[in-house]
Amino acid sequence: MQLELSAEDAAFRQEMRTFFTTQVPQEIRDAVAERRELTKDQVVASQRVLNAAGLAVPHWPEEWGGRGWSALRRHIWHEEMQRACVPTPLAFNASMVGPVIAAFGSQEQKERFLPRTANLDIWWSQGFSEPDAGSDLASLRTTAVREGDEFVVNGQKTWTTLGQYGDWIFNLVRTDPEAKKQAGISFLLIDMTTPGVTVRPIELIDGGHEVNEVWFEDVRVPAENLVGELNKGWDYAKFLLGNERVGVAPVGSTKRVLAQAKDYARSVSVAGGLTLLDDPLTVARIAELENELLALELTALRVVAHSADGKPHPASSVLKLKGTELQQAVSELVVDLAGPASLASGAGDADSDLAGWARHATPVYLNLRKASIYGGSNEIQRQIIAKTILGL
Ligand SMILES: Cc1cc2nc3c(=O)[nH]c(=O)nc-3n(C[C@H](O)[C@H](O)[C@H](O)COP(=O)(O)OP(=O)(O)OC[C@H]3O[C@@H](n4cnc5c(N)ncnc54)[C@H](O)[C@@H]3O)c2cc1C
Repeated sequence: MQLELSAEDAAFRQEMRTFFTTQVPQEIRDAVAERRELTKDQVVASQRVLNAAGLAVPHWPEEWGGRGWSALRRHIWHEEMQRACVPTPLAFNASMVGPVIAAFGSQEQKERFLPRTANLDIWWSQGFSEPDAGSDLASLRTTAVREGDEFVVNGQKTWTTLGQYGDWIFNLVRTDPEAKKQAGISFLLIDMTTPGVTVRPIELIDGGHEVNEVWFEDVRVPAENLVGELNKGWDYAKFLLGNERVGVAPVGSTKRVLAQAKDYARSVSVAGGLTLLDDPLTVARIAELENELLALELTALRVVAHSADGKPHPASSVLKLKGTELQQAVSELVVDLAGPASLASGAGDADSDLAGWARHATPVYLNLRKASIYGGSNEIQRQIIAKTILGL
């Protein structure tokens, strides 16, 4: 395998690096670097800067803002963005609903939604999971019953990430209760301001409000908001989930945090005038994580290179599994570097004596426990790998 970039690709990388480090507002990049939660305005502002330069949705069809780049260039774009602490375009828009509408939506839906989705004029939420329908997603019970030109939707979604900001939500709904589970599901777009839609917050272990329950009570949705064919929603969901898994292996940002961790280690003094970066065990742990990240990065390149016709390779499950494991391992390393003080009561308060990175270490660690659950839990990814890759 050739690991050196060609002169053209190296120039492309420099172009991306210059753009990301000079055009995206510094205060947004600082928030990412310090692992602070971004506001809605910051996420929107950043995506609009990217979109204006044609850098928000390069993987979409060219007609809708895609760039027709090679898989390697897309990887470089993504990597440099994360390296420069630029928030990646909102996944619900850029990697989930956008590609589904582009591939399966009507011409009207494409014209109506894709430009606004790329520019984050619409903030999308993902309405797939329900109580008792997470890993076993096909058991979902939210119903959509056709009445004239409308569907009437009733049911409950859960774990809806950032649903408090959502303008629209893309849903899996049951449209044929008689059919085999997977065969009776459709993909429906719902304006969240429609009467009967209620969003309720769920508090997470880090104290943050990131996820929600969404309730639908006799919500009337124009039939034109059905994507693709009736009862074919499971096919579109599988297409979307494959993309989601590629997107949840944040190699670039995990590499960045690991590089930052070295600086953190250097800033912690231990006995004998030494720092934690002089400790052989700490150094060995960092080196091992670096190696694993490099291996993951090469695997990611192979996976994108082998995705045919926009269809994700089954190995996207490997990326999801290993990517989230490494993300969690690096967050654990940072907590260990910060030491017991970062766990103390009040440690996370803005006026605590701790350095910013140490203040955020524990909440970030706790928050990232979610990474092995969402996008399909890691146990489920292992089953997919066993069945589709290893043939067990
Ligand atoms: C922070 C967060 C954000 C999320 N955001 C969204 C969102 O925006 N939109 C959305 O639709 N969903 C979202 N989800 C939902 C997520 O996709 C589901 O939580 C996930 O698919 C797991 O489903 P579940 O929670 O029902 O767990 P369950 O399916 O009940 O699983 C519980 C445990 O059992 C294991 N398990 C289940 N079945 C098997 C099996 N067959 N073999 C082995 N082990 C098994 C699981 O791995 C898990 O450890 C989010 C979840 C989290 C935690």
